[in-house]
Amino acid sequence: MSAPIDEFCMGDGAADPGRVCPSWCVARHGVHLGEEDWVHTGAPLPIGDDVVAHACMSVDPGTGEVDGPYVIIGRSQYSPAEAEALGAALIALACEARSASCSAPGGR
Ligand SMILES: [Zn+2]
Repeated sequence: MSAPIDEFCMGDGAADPGRVCPSWCVARHGVHLGEEDWVHTGAPLPIGDDVVAHACMSVDPGTGEVDGPYVIIGRSQYSPAEAEALGAALIALACEARSASCSAPGGR
């Protein structure tokens, strides 16, 4: 941790002119120290019992090194493409379930 921590402790994250948040970031920057403050976090999306999904990504302010973005679901980390595939599979599953319940035996 060679970063001058005081620069990140100005309270409101908007006070850091060097920081550019992704459009989905809802994190309050400036309240954590060091690496924790570099993490951009999206709004939590509850998707099940005790399971929440959110987007995240970290940007090292010193090197500009980017890690992510990722979609975190529960304790698992997915790339955006993997999360899209998971969402599409879930929609397909729901459609299949719906069509099964709507097609009465013997048809119309
Ligand atoms: Zn942010």
